[in-house]
Amino acid sequence: MKKIAVLTSGGDSPGMNAAVRAVVRKAIYEGVEVIGVNRGYAGLIEGDFITLGASAVSDIINRGGTFLRSARCEEFRTKEGRQKAADQLRKEGAEGLVVIGGDGSFTGAMLLTNETGIKTIGVPGTIDNDIACTDDSIGYDTAMNTIIDAITKIRDTASSHERAFVIEAMGRHAGFLTLAAGLAGGAESILVPEIKFNIDEVCDKVQKGYEKGKIHSIILVAEGVEFEGNEFETNRDVNESNAFTIGRIINERTGFDTRVSILGHIQRGGSPTGRDRLLASRLGAAAVDAMLAGETNKMVGLIHNKIEVSDIKDAIEGKKEFDKDLYELANILSI
Ligand code: ADP
Repeated sequence: MKKIAVLTSGGDSPGMNAAVRAVVRKAIYEGVEVIGVNRGYAGLIEGDFITLGASAVSDIINRGGTFLRSARCEEFRTKEGRQKAADQLRKEGAEGLVVIGGDGSFTGAMLLTNETGIKTIGVPGTIDNDIACTDDSIGYDTAMNTIIDAITKIRDTASSHERAFVIEAMGRHAGFLTLAAGLAGGAESILVPEIKFNIDEVCDKVQKGYEKGKIHSIILVAEGVEFEGNEFETNRDVNESNAFTIGRIINERTGFDTRVSILGHIQRGGSPTGRDRLLASRLGAAAVDAMLAGETNKMVGLIHNKIEVSDIKDAIEGKKEFDKDLYELANILSI
């Protein structure tokens, strides 16, 4: 193999740059040329390529986002689009493609390989950490720390004014990020999509906390929370985030001044943590190793601190198990 391509796709996550850097530097070390694809699959279809020498990836290990940029591309969902992408890669002389992204991007990569024979290796990059076949994905640790930092700051003002705060974290379908950040940030209640919550229990916890002398209450809520019963449904304004509905009900039922804070896209940005840089560097290099070993349709991950190469199909179809013990521990520690 003499030349490979690398792209970042789907939702960006901090550490993607560090992963691109690792792919480029490891490939060059192995005597393989690398081209970068701008704007994910959209740029791949258009042939929007740049040559990446070792110095092209200088000074990016510390930067959030992705300098190759990311895009969502409808055309790549079609067979014709994927054929165009393969033609562009072949024209450029690239024999393999490293895809840094989430499960949507991996599905695209798998179809590209199956239909055109282009060799692909996936590198998991998403703050949601919902990809199977790896303990962590790139960006998760940074996002967790961003949320913890927000909780810490909000708690200062919550304590000063004896308020309850409902904080919304990212996670429409998965609560891994919210659970970890809520536990590490010491949130009083953690609401995640995987476990239906009971609004009465949340209100009770706020009430009892104040009775026991707590001067604040932090309720960390993932975007896609599910609730028990239809009372919550009747109280819900479909035009607003669940966090606002939860905040309003807590305020009405407990009488405590309750504020809502939606963290939004700050969770996606920022300089990657040491852990994310380390993970990105290891996985980026491992993707090159896998490609040079002749692997294709695979994803590189880290399981129990060891590099594992899995079928990309398993990463896409496998469901990462929600850690109920960790959820239980968070409940125990927040009494
Ligand atoms: P993520 O990789 O973060 O899950 P998306 O789901 O948005 O993000 O996917 C990123 C891109 O991957 C899409 O814009 C599309 O080009 C491609 N993609 C996603 N799902 C498929 C699919 N089922 N078939 C082909 N391409 C897909």
